[in-house]
Amino acid sequence: MRVFTAALATETNTFSPISIDRKAFEASLYAPPGQHPETPTLCSAPITIGRRVTRELGWELIEGTAAWADPAGLINRQTYESLRDEILGQLKAAMPVDAVVLGLHGAMVAQGYDDPEGDFLTRVRDIVGPDILICAELDPHSHFTAKRAAAGNFFVVFKEFPHTDFVERAEDLWRIAVDQLTGKARPVMSVFDCRMIDVFPTSQDPMRSFVNRLYALEKSDPDLLSISIIHGFMAGDVPEMGTKVIVITNDDKAKGDALAEKLGMELFSMRGTFMVKQLDEREAVAKALAAPKGPVVIADVWDNPGGGTAGDATVILAELIKHDAQGVAVGTIWDPIAVQICFAAGEGAEIALRFGAKSAPFTGEPIDKLVKVVRLVRNAEMRFGESFAPFGDSAVIAFDGFEVILNSTRAQSFDPSLFSVMGIDPMQQKILLIKSTNHFYDSFSKIASEIIYCSAGKPYPNTPATTPYRKARKDIWPKVENPFAG
Ligand SMILES: [Zn+2]
Repeated sequence: MRVFTAALATETNTFSPISIDRKAFEASLYAPPGQHPETPTLCSAPITIGRRVTRELGWELIEGTAAWADPAGLINRQTYESLRDEILGQLKAAMPVDAVVLGLHGAMVAQGYDDPEGDFLTRVRDIVGPDILICAELDPHSHFTAKRAAAGNFFVVFKEFPHTDFVERAEDLWRIAVDQLTGKARPVMSVFDCRMIDVFPTSQDPMRSFVNRLYALEKSDPDLLSISIIHGFMAGDVPEMGTKVIVITNDDKAKGDALAEKLGMELFSMRGTFMVKQLDEREAVAKALAAPKGPVVIADVWDNPGGGTAGDATVILAELIKHDAQGVAVGTIWDPIAVQICFAAGEGAEIALRFGAKSAPFTGEPIDKLVKVVRLVRNAEMRFGESFAPFGDSAVIAFDGFEVILNSTRAQSFDPSLFSVMGIDPMQQKILLIKSTNHFYDSFSKIASEIIYCSAGKPYPNTPATTPYRKARKDIWPKVENPFAG
């Protein structure tokens, strides 16, 4: 057997002002054939798992390019087309193959392409013909379009959010592919459209119990090859946005259809109950100021660069300034221009500085202060689990009881070490203001006296009922109360 594999992925927040070009892929992951490292990234595990599976079977794996860019706005058209054509060219050169196993994300949007993955998969299908297996791993924060379903045989999606299971799901993908190629199974895919859009953290109920049931269902029936939930991605303004259920059975379409519908309607019945409770900026700041001891962590959940926003919103900071809060450390506000000015001024300088809120609407106003440049660090990095996350050349500025870290490479606040590498002891602060939706929780919960989830401004389009979509379908909850009625 000869199997072709490649990866092409990013997550596009179409409301983000940050465009993605070739350099953005190269900065995150760009690996030409054979040069993908041994450790997988979020969307490239089908490559590294494929190496192991094909080695054990004595099959031939032909590797194409792997490319991943950190989440941001629309992909530059030429960048998408050139990466797509690079991989398609590699596939053509590899023909004939018995299967194509891909690592995708599923929420890409490029200039001129609402459905790049659908376009890519259709072109792959055109090259290999109707009888060759095409399958892919997807992120649940994606759009499962009819074009994708038609072009691919089946898809396996991460079940966990945070996505701790991307390796296990790549193993599922390969197991099902091998079963089809060796004649042990005949996978068929059923899809149910839940006609809703929501956010589904799996670290808490009701989604925790729901996902546990999916694992149990898969174990209970050998002909139930995989169950996936496409959460959908509300920051992607595309025609087929929304929540879907995918069930893969061994040649039992009727059973798959029925189960997908049953699970999908259960999700629909729990709509609006999945997200953690959030306070607005006034409530959040009042609660933090009233706390008996620090550090209280305020998470600016919707200005999370991990979800594609710029990370320069000032709404919560302005509210803290208004109340004359003391002992506040902010990590971080993305402002490469202000960082450049601080570096030019030098450590110890006192300057009049304007910073923040420069890149998008609904992120507050830029802040003007007479500040002291306390500390400058080139190529700053914070810890992130076993690895490190860079946040670029960074400056600490101080004014009126506040210390603010300005950074030049967008990064969500994964870990308290982002403060210590900048010379700020997070334990000595009354309030830590950070930017992250959910990934921060593991590390910050270990030091926080209290954690406050704050919804402030609208850098991320987090209220789909009122988000000014231009392309997204209108026949889904919460755009309409019950899309199944009538
Ligand atoms: Zn995701």
